[in-house]
Amino acid sequence: MPNVKHQKWWGWGEENVFFTWQNKPAFAPMVKRAIGIDLRPRQRDTVDFATAQVPETRISTEQLEILNGIVGADNAVTEDHTRVVHWAGKAVTDILKTLQNRFDRIPDVVVYPGSEDEVQALVDAAVELDLVLIPFGGGSSISRSLQPRPEEERTVVSVDLGRLNKVLEIDETSGLARIQAGVLGPDMEEQLNSRGWTLGHFPDSFNHSTLGGWAATRSSGMQSDKYGDIADIIRGMNVVRQGGLVTLRPLPSTSTGPSLREMFIGSEGRLGIITELWVQVHREAEQREVIAYMFPTWQQGLTAMRKIHEAEVHTTFARISDAHETEFSLATQKAPTSLKKTISAKGQDALWAVMRKRGWDTKAMCIAYVCYEGSKDDVARKKKTVAGIAKGQGALILGSGPGALYDQKKFDTPYLRDFLLEQGVIGDVSETAAPWSQLTTVHKNAYAAAQSAFEELGKTGWIMSHMSHSYHAGACLYFTFAFEISDNVDHEYALVKTRIQQSFIDSGATLSHHHGVGAEHSPWMEQDVSPAGADLMRGLFATADPGQNFNPGKIL
Ligand code: FAD
Repeated sequence: MPNVKHQKWWGWGEENVFFTWQNKPAFAPMVKRAIGIDLRPRQRDTVDFATAQVPETRISTEQLEILNGIVGADNAVTEDHTRVVHWAGKAVTDILKTLQNRFDRIPDVVVYPGSEDEVQALVDAAVELDLVLIPFGGGSSISRSLQPRPEEERTVVSVDLGRLNKVLEIDETSGLARIQAGVLGPDMEEQLNSRGWTLGHFPDSFNHSTLGGWAATRSSGMQSDKYGDIADIIRGMNVVRQGGLVTLRPLPSTSTGPSLREMFIGSEGRLGIITELWVQVHREAEQREVIAYMFPTWQQGLTAMRKIHEAEVHTTFARISDAHETEFSLATQKAPTSLKKTISAKGQDALWAVMRKRGWDTKAMCIAYVCYEGSKDDVARKKKTVAGIAKGQGALILGSGPGALYDQKKFDTPYLRDFLLEQGVIGDVSETAAPWSQLTTVHKNAYAAAQSAFEELGKTGWIMSHMSHSYHAGACLYFTFAFEISDNVDHEYALVKTRIQQSFIDSGATLSHHHGVGAEHSPWMEQDVSPAGADLMRGLFATADPGQNFNPGKIL
């Protein structure tokens, strides 16, 4: 069995890491208000794999022998646990189906190639034997881009790139690194950091996703304001296709026709397997600071975010939570456990008093976090400019204490979904991007859409949002929704999710800013890129993969 790290089979991330609410006094009352349920203590620390009813592999002995011949018998695995780990991503519906033993169609074998040549041999064999290949990075897909089609009759091979996990070279003069596609975020940063470099790409799923997966899903990290989306970061790549390798050299820019690089970015395994990437890397910043701000209203906070961007302050990130998300984030604060922390809690009481004195409605206030990187002087200058903009919109500056806390906790939130599922609650997300001029409308319409779905279902539901990832022309809005589920969960989930997604399109926003398409978002593709645009994309997939051997059914 190859030495490749995987997430737990029944939920997000690692075993023995949990969300706990008993040390957060405001959390249970907030959940009661928001979705009307009383929280119970966590019941499960793990789920016994013996409870999984796993469909048998359908691979023939002859096919397995051929794959063994390519990657070695130890690296072609048909055992149940490995196949279940690779059957889906980590959308909340994937996790629910896994827990309920609703495996529609799972891979028949998982192969772990150890070189680009082995990937090429796999691709050629797949076309010749008419197998289905599904590339697998960290398995963190949230848009159902990993599941085989339920009706798939051919042998399904999950190609796990986890053994291709090295930073191969760094061109220190150009700030470019050549890195293998299967490397997980932390392993890659460790290799880069040891030489004083960073990629600067930190999606919320960073710990459990790979460089190749980021490329294949058009990912965006929380620091994209400074480092760019993955599409900006990638400068060149190798993609293995039937009949040969597409090699795109690392170039700062090029005018050689429509961009093949852009075509492979976001292709979700439909155009081949990405094995290596040339990416922009940066020297680690001399100083880094995250400052928190509290705004009296969403509108003022949003205006401040836009003005920060307009002023070309070049922050590393600037994000603001709306009033609901602010309420949630305050409710997840721990009770003070030491004298020092009790004093800082008293500091918070004093802050509350200032807000009330200013006549703020504390239910409307919105918390923002802005991250600064650079030299000491640079950071000081940026902080000063942002302080002026924030104060101009009536904000209070909360300082670096809450900012540092946010920075520490940033990768913990996904564990909350598993906890909520155990409580009979679905918590999931929908995200989009729109021009600055549309953001308020998109936000309002998504709330109304979710509310209409909750009402139709007769449920007390919750929705909250934040703005992050700023661009010259607009920004991303990220919504989280939650409600108590019943036996009719498939219908309930589809209704809420569909209403929110449709509201994005109807409000002039995109179907997805950074979660990709998969099978989850594909019903809206024609609306997103126009019917003629969708036809063009179908034509590309049909020509590039006439046998439908590469992750068919995703995107379109
Ligand atoms: P996988 O999930 O393994 O695969 C995703 C898709 O890419 C599949 O279609 C797969 O076939 C294809 N693929 C993977 N590797 C390759 C390759 N080498 N060649 C060709 N195709 C390949 N996304 C963000 O952008 N930003 C976020 O902040 C973020 N936060 C998330 C938080 C949570 C809790 C969850 C569940 C997801 C989040 N995501 C986020 C979505 C997900 O992490 C991204 O889509 C990520 O880029 C997937 O990377 P992966 O390595 O896990 O790929």
